[in-house]
Amino acid sequence: TGLRKHFPVRGGFLRRRVGEIKAVDGVDLTVHRGETVALVGESGCGKSTTGRAILRLEAPTAGEVVFHHPEHGPVHLESADARTLRAVRPHLQMVFQDPFASLDSRMTVGGIVAEPLVINKAATGQELKDRVAELLTLVGLRPEHANRYPHAFSGGQRQRICIARALALDPDLIVCDEAVSALDVSVQAQILNLLEDLQRRLGLAYLFISHDLAAVEHIADRVVVMYVGKIVESGPVEQIYTAPRHPYTEALLAAVPQPDPRVRTRPKLLTGDVPSPASPPGGCYFHPRCPHAQPVCATEAPEVRSVGDGHLSACHFADALPLAGATAAARPP
Ligand code: SF4
Ligand code: MG
Repeated sequence: TGLRKHFPVRGGFLRRRVGEIKAVDGVDLTVHRGETVALVGESGCGKSTTGRAILRLEAPTAGEVVFHHPEHGPVHLESADARTLRAVRPHLQMVFQDPFASLDSRMTVGGIVAEPLVINKAATGQELKDRVAELLTLVGLRPEHANRYPHAFSGGQRQRICIARALALDPDLIVCDEAVSALDVSVQAQILNLLEDLQRRLGLAYLFISHDLAAVEHIADRVVVMYVGKIVESGPVEQIYTAPRHPYTEALLAAVPQPDPRVRTRPKLLTGDVPSPASPPGGCYFHPRCPHAQPVCATEAPEVRSVGDGHLSACHFADALPLAGATAAARPP
């Protein structure tokens, strides 16, 4: 609630603070048990920083992050002391984008998957070995893979190892930060299916951070769209894809590659770059790139408001614009 993460900008000879990058600037979102919420937007919109601030990998500048612990009730992560964080962390895990950088090449796969169990004193001896074998099987690898090193595995297999490590302590929430973005498309589908299967079996919730709207449509229950540190639209996946209510979402959907050659490609709506969060434009942050912008958009920042059941939009003209969804053009038949 009201999550903010601002980074100081320093300049000049004395490295004085000359400004601030508002990487995350007032984000409200909820992930329910067993649910997949996708956080989407272009690079540099604050998605990863939001995920990291939620898990306290970065200390938030302001706002609340409340985890409803199954036994201990609500825990305020933003102000939790080291002891509380240690107790809660097993419930909150992360899978990173690059499966080549996020595994220690000098550790065996078994050692990597066992590490969270060892650190948290959750298992030792034969019990530890059995649990590692069980975790590897759960993600579609084999128990004997435990003795090998990460370099012996492909990108998709490495991401399975990362998922096994994340599952070791029976988490409730996994933040997947671009977890399939570095993989080949066919491998992406396998990993997405694995994540869905694990969710059904283990009751996991995912915060699925991605710039890939095709992957998001496959996996998400709800979609949250971020632009320059703020949420501009959120709602059920079906509504976001068929009837978006924010021009930025429309533009993102129009940029999804069209797999069917018989369907005419839609004109590109997204031009230019994401503005720097150190000096965002006035009014609606999207106005310099928005094909629907009106004079008011340059001067007044739109409020987030309800535009339907569980559907929010921050656009002055959310009710008036005829925005195109992905149904007609970008969805495969
Ligand atoms: Fe575009 Fe104006 Fe809506 Fe912003 S408020 S998205 S500039 S129409
Ligand atoms: Mg990122």
